[in-house]
Amino acid sequence: MSLSLVLLNDTMRLHDNPLLQLPTAAKAALVVLDHHAFFGAQYGIARANLSRLQQQLAVITAVKQQLAAQHIGLITLVGNVAQRISELARELNATALYCAEPVAPNERQALLRLSPGLAVTQLDCNSLLGHQLRPTLATLPDSFTPFRKQLEPLLQVSPPLNTPLPPQGWLTMSQCEPYNSAFNQLASQYQPNLLQSVASEQGALARVTEFIWQGRHILTYKETRNQLLGQHYASFCSAPLALGSLSVRQLWQDIVQFEQQVAANDSTYWLKFELLWREYFRWQFRKYGNLWFSRNGIKQAIRQQPDFSPPRLSSRQQDKFQRWCAGQTGIDFVDANMQLLNKTGLMSNRGRQNVASYLIYDLALDWRLGAAYFEQRLLDYDCASNWGNWAYIAGTGNSSERRFNISKQAQLYDADGRFVRTVLQDASA
Ligand SMILES: Cc1cc2nc3c(=O)[nH]c(=O)nc-3n(C[C@H](O)[C@H](O)[C@H](O)COP(=O)(O)OP(=O)(O)OC[C@H]3O[C@@H](n4cnc5c(N)ncnc54)[C@H](O)[C@@H]3O)c2cc1C
Repeated sequence: MSLSLVLLNDTMRLHDNPLLQLPTAAKAALVVLDHHAFFGAQYGIARANLSRLQQQLAVITAVKQQLAAQHIGLITLVGNVAQRISELARELNATALYCAEPVAPNERQALLRLSPGLAVTQLDCNSLLGHQLRPTLATLPDSFTPFRKQLEPLLQVSPPLNTPLPPQGWLTMSQCEPYNSAFNQLASQYQPNLLQSVASEQGALARVTEFIWQGRHILTYKETRNQLLGQHYASFCSAPLALGSLSVRQLWQDIVQFEQQVAANDSTYWLKFELLWREYFRWQFRKYGNLWFSRNGIKQAIRQQPDFSPPRLSSRQQDKFQRWCAGQTGIDFVDANMQLLNKTGLMSNRGRQNVASYLIYDLALDWRLGAAYFEQRLLDYDCASNWGNWAYIAGTGNSSERRFNISKQAQLYDADGRFVRTVLQDASA
């Protein structure tokens, strides 16, 4: 009997995971840690720091434990995704691969490089616009507002799939373990910090319960979402959504149920509105792929030529960039946000908009450097949301430039200077 590989790279969860419900008879669950995404570099900037690597290792370890509790083994490989999968397929005589339909261009390209003997089936596991509502890319609106206006009225998010897992057919833990030595070695070398497991499935579901149901923070989200510091001003769901350990359809369903059972207001709507931004960038990346990484942006890339040449910096610009990264520009509001990012791996949305604007317009640096540094540091790094938002602020996406007046923004969002004081004093203590 031929075996199917089930790649869980973008769906590291048991809840709402169509890949775990496949009726195929013989199958092996698999995760590949992409070596280039965690050890490679772009524009001379490492693509991930230690915290991001540790978080990824912790989340893979957590899903492996969850699957083990269901008597399902997990093969964990490290390396070039296409190569590792093709080798494994040969070794196990696998003829089919099932996976979540990726968004990031490098993940899409990896699927194209798989050995031709492997029949690939992609399921869209992480979008709100599921099968029936799948937009046609050619006619997909390029700006957020028309996108939202066109699709929001139709949006019937399919309920999450939460039936118990069919236990049969999976390779067991002992059958999988012989393939796991490289991953186990990496995990023991870099010691995944299980405290960071807020990004794991269990941590994420607990967070959703706390934010929506127990604390009812969702009821004031619209008023608090522009804050800069704290634990309840926003959902903090971005990391598990980015890793696929939280299903966006599950989160959506929790919001809708809360609206039906407890209360609906502008704030509960606004959380859904923000999830539509995530959705928008996902479909835009599927539509334009690599053009999002072009320095001159999508529109010019289509009209003229995409410019993928790496940013070139004079030594003065290099110095400015290093200061921005370290949070030492001399502008307190920028520095506090950057130091917070460096310390915690996160930054509020308001902070991100401001430091991005500062790099692009005040320092006049190539926006892609900022996006690459964010990629290295953000624990919620998500290709479409990160590069899409940077392009949006730089005006190289489908919008005009968005420049922020930093001192006005600091006045508006940190009028008493508490945020700046807290972060900068903390750093100097
Ligand atoms: C320059 C820049 C870079 C960014 N990089 C990332 C990134 O790598 N990964 C990432 O998930 N978000 C990114 N964002 C969007 C946003 O800042 C974060 O999603 C948000 O701050 C995460 O916190 P939260 O989960 O508490 O968000 P909440 O305010 O609780 O929002 C709920 C969810 O909606 C989605 N969302 C909210 N705002 C946006 C947005 N502007 N664009 C896309 N999705 C959104 C996220 O999935 C988020 O988890 C970036 C924004 C900017 C301006």
